[in-house]
Amino acid sequence: MDESLLWRRLTVRGRVQGVGFRPAVWRHARALGLVGTVRNTARDVVIEVGGPAAAVARFEQTLAASLPARAVLEAITSAPMEPAGATAFEIAPSEAGPEVEPSLSPDLATCPDCLAELRDPRDRRFGYPFLACTQCGPRYTVIETMPYDRESTSMRHFPLCSACAREYHDSPADRRFHAEATCCPACGPALVWHGADEPDPLAGAIALLASGGILAVKSLGGFHLACDATNAGAVALLRRRKRRPVKPFALMMPSLAAVRRHCEVSEAEAGLLTSPEAPIVLLTRRAASALPEDIAPGNARLGVMLPGAPLHHLLLDHFEALVMTSGNVSEEPLVSREEDLGRLVPSIAEAALGNDRPIVNACDDSVAAVLGDAPVILRRARGHVPAPITLAREVPQMLCLGSDLKNTFCLTRGRQAHLSPHLGDLGDALTARRAGETIDQWCDWLGLDPEITVHDLHPQMVSTDLARRRPASRRLAVQHHHAHLMACLAEHGRGAPALGVIWDGTGYGEDGTIWGGEFLLASADGTCARLAHLEPVPLPGGDVAIREPWRMAVSWLVRLFGAEALQWARGAALRWAEPELVTWLAQALAREPARHTATSSAGRLFDAVGVLLGMSPAASFEGEHAVALESLALRARSGQAPAWPVEIDRSRRPWQLRVTPALHALLEASEAGVDAATLSARFHTTLAAGIIEVVCGLTEETGRIPVVLSGGCFQSAVLLRGVAAGLRAEGLEVLDHRRVPPNDGGIALGQALAAAMRLERS
Ligand code: ZN
Ligand code: ZN
Ligand code: FE
Repeated sequence: MDESLLWRRLTVRGRVQGVGFRPAVWRHARALGLVGTVRNTARDVVIEVGGPAAAVARFEQTLAASLPARAVLEAITSAPMEPAGATAFEIAPSEAGPEVEPSLSPDLATCPDCLAELRDPRDRRFGYPFLACTQCGPRYTVIETMPYDRESTSMRHFPLCSACAREYHDSPADRRFHAEATCCPACGPALVWHGADEPDPLAGAIALLASGGILAVKSLGGFHLACDATNAGAVALLRRRKRRPVKPFALMMPSLAAVRRHCEVSEAEAGLLTSPEAPIVLLTRRAASALPEDIAPGNARLGVMLPGAPLHHLLLDHFEALVMTSGNVSEEPLVSREEDLGRLVPSIAEAALGNDRPIVNACDDSVAAVLGDAPVILRRARGHVPAPITLAREVPQMLCLGSDLKNTFCLTRGRQAHLSPHLGDLGDALTARRAGETIDQWCDWLGLDPEITVHDLHPQMVSTDLARRRPASRRLAVQHHHAHLMACLAEHGRGAPALGVIWDGTGYGEDGTIWGGEFLLASADGTCARLAHLEPVPLPGGDVAIREPWRMAVSWLVRLFGAEALQWARGAALRWAEPELVTWLAQALAREPARHTATSSAGRLFDAVGVLLGMSPAASFEGEHAVALESLALRARSGQAPAWPVEIDRSRRPWQLRVTPALHALLEASEAGVDAATLSARFHTTLAAGIIEVVCGLTEETGRIPVVLSGGCFQSAVLLRGVAAGLRAEGLEVLDHRRVPPNDGGIALGQALAAAMRLERS
């Protein structure tokens, strides 16, 4: 062994497994004539490299540039080591251990090299719907145990043929070297048709879709329900059968060029669409698009994704656009197993295009959008999980149960926060059961047995109940909007103090009322103080009001006109669901407003304004009217709409932002015949101006600390841009969401940081 050789050990952390990292390192080291090894541990990738000092230095300097595009480096440490007796550079076997932090890549969309093979008639994988490599294909959705190796995934049912085995074992230069999900038509999964007749599965699927039928398609994380999006009859049929009257359907289009035919696509949005995560991207619909309005009724945006798997490319070759909506019935969990296909076929779809590779972990599509000046994740699932979020501080082992709507949970250890995929609404018993199973599965993988559980302050939430049922030595409750604030700080690696503008649907408040238009101060000692809020009004019917926005409209009318509201409400009642009920409620609220729980919810204010501007008295999903109002405001965009007056009541603590003057002005303008789009634009401007005024007033007392914008209302680009621009113009630092949703999908992460800070103090 040449004594002049220098040896170093590099430990690399980040998204470094399942992305072709080791073969790239192998090529890089061999090109420089170095010797040593690269190997996966369950936590990191470890590189031991030896050679002449100059070559080793060059290896380290140029390592990052030599890596596959899909690798993400979070940290590299490098230290000298004792010379190891190696004569070549090799890829060493993976090592597993009990005390390690698994690092796992999420599922990745088909890479350009695999796509080229899919299209190449001379390639042995031509037209094969399951081809994959180290740069693409399933990961999370096929994994059974850690660390990530073929034998610990559902690919173990498909022993490699000799050609695939050569690529996998013997060809470090090949992008299928140690590609755990690699396969080919000779050895890999095959399509399976579930339907009355027995056509060739792919041809049968295309024929069914082309004839206006509805097809269940097994994708990476579960079944989609698909139909031809250019066929209005098929779209309407799917709405009826799925019992989904207005909630937008996601679309899949064959190419970026196709997307541009139907939507405005900025450079940032094109980047999201073509990213390996391949999320559904919310895009402004072009007036010229001839796609049926019924895909997203009353919505200025369409949710569009590009094909994320080879099968999708093969299907989309034949269509301008397909509806690809989650394969479930209303709030039930996504169907991911062939055994459960009875829930979709034949009641919703005529047939299903399945395959013989089991989906181990169900995973929805992710949803993203460019709302402010950067992309933000609105639903975090396929492509993003199970990649952990790195925190700025060490936290104890905890299980955080999140919120009931858009539920996710979060497991923590050290500086890692493992946020689960979007699981759905825990109000559905099957969804709640799946959440419990997924928690067990993740604890098992991660080798976690958290002693601390964290849940929402609301005593009656399903998630709170789930927390109570789990063994734990300590349980902590975190207020909903405090958690929203902390989620945003956590993803930015920031800490308190910060001022949170949390505009949201509803969350249980510390005073037992329902909060949701909040200005909160998070302090470094882990406490959270309510400094100001939207003026509260009665919340008639509690959660029922979410589905029946007319109740909030009546509540606000009584606030505006007192007993006189009845006049207004009677007139309006002609348009509303049940006139007697409206009259009864108006009278009851005028007589005894205190009999109802009060709410400062901003989401419910949007509901009320939607109904006052003529929208439906009922809503089929939370936030339906807020989305419709934003769409109206986007349409009105002709210069800056002026704000109506609001009042800030500083005579009490917390302050109140009173919007009654603005609502009077809105109703007057509406009576005068001003169109709803203009009214909605002015309403958004008014809220933004009110928020900015309150924040500026508060920072006179708190000092100029960062301002966090979070909560479901900040999924509105109009509100987000208005508020962020105004605060920045005042010289304040604004933090908004990027990697974690502003909606309740981020609550579990925020609970973790809030609980950790409180534990530290005690
Ligand atoms: Zn590939
Ligand atoms: Zn093969
Ligand atoms: Fe919320």
